Amino acid sequence: MRLRNVTGSREMIADSRFVVHDPFDHKGKWKEVFGNTNPVHIEIGMGKGRFIMDLAAAKPDVNYIGIEKYSTVLLRATQKMAENELPNLCFIRMDAEDICEVFDKEEVAKIYLNFSDPWPKDRHAKRRLPSRQFLARYDAILAKDGRIEFKTDNQELFDFALEEIEPAGWELEAATRDLHHDEKMMAGNIMTEYEERFSSLGNPIYKYIIYRQQFENGG
Ligand code: SAM
Repeated sequence: MRLRNVTGSREMIADSRFVVHDPFDHKGKWKEVFGNTNPVHIEIGMGKGRFIMDLAAAKPDVNYIGIEKYSTVLLRATQKMAENELPNLCFIRMDAEDICEVFDKEEVAKIYLNFSDPWPKDRHAKRRLPSRQFLARYDAILAKDGRIEFKTDNQELFDFALEEIEPAGWELEAATRDLHHDEKMMAGNIMTEYEERFSSLGNPIYKYIIYRQQFENGG
């Protein structure tokens, strides 16, 4: 994502009541943050937040947490929240590398990865959000029957992500190389900012849903 330096964005984020400022203190206690026992779904690399805000508005019985590394980007999401406040959504500004310090074992019921940065150089592969290194982190926080849903317009990243599934101990539940022409997988689809932009250019959108092999039979 191209970043414009928005002056004071870090300070504005620090003042925002939509951002959880001490996420490490809430490990194992996210139900208290929302004040209910609804499942927690997270989006990692949420950008300006359109996807997770539309999702949270559509599903009030799910608690949503949007995670974004950069204040300049997150600021836009907090501004949108100020116009349309959603009680079941909050944001965290952090690098997802530290996600295991923020969520306890099985505390998250679903993880969304949308249009993750491709990190095209081989030596940066472990920074890709669907890499085996990140899958191991997700394994440590996801409920046994939890799912990861990943969308991208980047064919190389999608091929890489598919190759990472099995060695990391995960199983493919569903996949498409043209989401917008796949009636079944498109049902209930919520567009992200990047998805809107790239699909309007005619680019196909790739998507997979994965779960963990060892919990296949509910074990
Ligand atoms: N998901 C949005 C969409 O589909 O429109 C934004 C996609 S943008 C290409 C990727 C976003 O992920 C950027 O805002 C970037 O800052 C964020 N990001 C990348 N790596 C991250 C990480 N390790 N932790 C948190 N956010 C990250």
